Amino acid sequence: MAITRFAPSPTGYLHIGGLRTALYSFLWARRTQGEFRLRIEDTDTQRNNEEAMKAIIEAFEWVGLNYDNEVEYQSQRLEIYKKYIQQLLDEGNAYYCYMSKEELDALREEQMANKQTPRYDGRYRDFTGTPPEGVEPVVRIKAPKEGVISFVDGVKGAMNFNATEVDDFVIARSNGMPTYNFVVAIDDALMKMTDVIRGDDHLTNTPKQIVIYKALGFDVPKFYHVPMINNPQGKKLSKRDGAMDVMEYKRQGYLAEALLNFLVRLGWSNGDQEIFSMDEMLELFDPNNINKSASAYNEEKLLWLNAHYIKNVSNERLANELEFFDCHLSGHDKKEMILDLCKERAQTLLELKASIDNILSTPTSYENKGVKKFVKEETASMLESYVALLEANKTSLHLACDYEAITKPFIEEKGLKFPQLFQPIRIALTGGTQAPSVYDILAVLGCDESVQRIHAALAQNFGK
Ligand code: GLU
Repeated sequence: MAITRFAPSPTGYLHIGGLRTALYSFLWARRTQGEFRLRIEDTDTQRNNEEAMKAIIEAFEWVGLNYDNEVEYQSQRLEIYKKYIQQLLDEGNAYYCYMSKEELDALREEQMANKQTPRYDGRYRDFTGTPPEGVEPVVRIKAPKEGVISFVDGVKGAMNFNATEVDDFVIARSNGMPTYNFVVAIDDALMKMTDVIRGDDHLTNTPKQIVIYKALGFDVPKFYHVPMINNPQGKKLSKRDGAMDVMEYKRQGYLAEALLNFLVRLGWSNGDQEIFSMDEMLELFDPNNINKSASAYNEEKLLWLNAHYIKNVSNERLANELEFFDCHLSGHDKKEMILDLCKERAQTLLELKASIDNILSTPTSYENKGVKKFVKEETASMLESYVALLEANKTSLHLACDYEAITKPFIEEKGLKFPQLFQPIRIALTGGTQAPSVYDILAVLGCDESVQRIHAALAQNFGK
């Protein structure tokens, strides 16, 4: 039974890298009938913003990642952190350090000049004298001075950090506020995390957090540090590449399941399987199989997955999703037919909306190029005869195949080539030459509306 968490700092929107670690943590907890918790790391009050917190929760709702219990806010847990800081001080595992900023700067400069890594030199570690006046001390942890801090990372394998790489870092600032690595360790321990899955940009924080666990006698969870998502060129993912607000994917017409499917594969695989329903992810995902190397963002693949899900979710669902884009099909009697027709070619919901609008809205103008090419002298009389044919068969015209059954003989009888009839009809019905099959459009619009549109085009002589 795994207890996992997602612990975002609400300093901006939720981006896809964050959503991916959230998804992995969620899947692992759910797969093992464990718990998935959400913790907002908002102690850095200057950089936090309310909007960002709401955005994270909104994004979770959109993709359907549900978490257990209430959201924990670190800003509401300050008393807990203070208690543990005091405990560490009382037990001699932490101490006050009275170094001034000037002293710290001087030490840093000296170390840099000697080509050493800047680190605290432990000068107050065993201090027993009288503290200097006028300095508000920070609290530092007593980190081990020698040996190795080791853990087995579920992704990267055995990790060994020399104790000399971790100095006696600050756990409480001079204003009493606890520091980042301290609160993460305290919360993960108190919230009984068994598995911490996070981006590998946090890898160097882990030995520090282990120092805290050990100092307080807490069990150390298993860590999984997930490699970054890069752009196709192997560089850091930028906004242009897709490192944008998760909700922007919604606005661009992606279905949540397509995004989750895309993210689960960015960094994890099961053979060469590409399509994963949520049930399959829950059955198969194991963080111990997360890829060791960075993955590359691939927009084509995301579009391909989105097209797949658009084709495969129910029309009911599509109609609901389209409401967000101001495309209202719910009351439309041909809803099923329109969606069946348009979803075949749409890669996003925006494209789906555009092709639906293209058919449903009465044309207000006619594409010049198409008109020039396809509307000839004889077109008007041909369309009049075709309209007469439609009207004569009106009661039997419902499906695309019904239109096909009367149109084919008409074309033969008149000795026409298909585009001679179809392109002017397409232009009359939709305003342009780019549209699905004429039979499908006729069936969607129905006989009356189709006749009306053909008449309107003829009345305006196609805007010529
Ligand atoms: N709050 C950290 C962040 O947003 C994550 C901390 C963690 O997962 O341990 O990057």
